[in-house]
Amino acid sequence: MPVASGNHGLVHLNRVETARPLVALTFDDGPHPVHTPRLLDILAEHRARATFYVIGALVRRYPEIAQRIVAEGHELANHTWSHPTLSRLGNARFLSEIDRTQEIIYQTVGYVPVTMRPPYGAITMRQSRMLAQERNLPTIIWSVDPQDWRRPGPSVVARRMVSGAQPGAIILAHDIHAPTVRAIPEALNGLYGRGLRSVTMSELLGWGQWGPRRRPSRVARNPELRHPI
Ligand SMILES: [Zn+2]
Repeated sequence: MPVASGNHGLVHLNRVETARPLVALTFDDGPHPVHTPRLLDILAEHRARATFYVIGALVRRYPEIAQRIVAEGHELANHTWSHPTLSRLGNARFLSEIDRTQEIIYQTVGYVPVTMRPPYGAITMRQSRMLAQERNLPTIIWSVDPQDWRRPGPSVVARRMVSGAQPGAIILAHDIHAPTVRAIPEALNGLYGRGLRSVTMSELLGWGQWGPRRRPSRVARNPELRHPI
């Protein structure tokens, strides 16, 4: 199985150290057949880029949406195959959740994710270190959580996203909720108003754009054979 190469020594992070006025807007739990395409329309209108922490089983179900995400300049990243609480899993199930998702994304769009986010943010440091060492996958949590899944209303979600943002912020949201998608125009306008621009996780990390142009340097074949667990 192809795996990501080059995690730059990162293991686990909540935000990125940068003085540049950039943030990463991240969307978990999709792709969703209705809400994700609507969100993509909004992001295109605002010329904003985002990172989608997708569920492997849903990429298999909605491959064309995953392909559209990448075609429009966004990034796909690993949010496990079936959204379990990873911290409760043994090594075999844990790695299978990650590896199946890397594989389906690679098969669907031709590129391998370079970061992962654990469901509920639940992962042990031992598991994060193992992922960084054995799969070159840093664990990305978040620094801004608007609690959009509680459905407080689009204005509240937008306000929380904007007020918590600063350079290097990683903003958590979910593209499976209609009110979250409706909050995004106001959130993007608010971020622009504070001089902040949304880029992908790879861009925020200074790795350049994830996708076609990065493919040769991001893909290595079977390095796990050199690092048996
Ligand atoms: Zn999730």
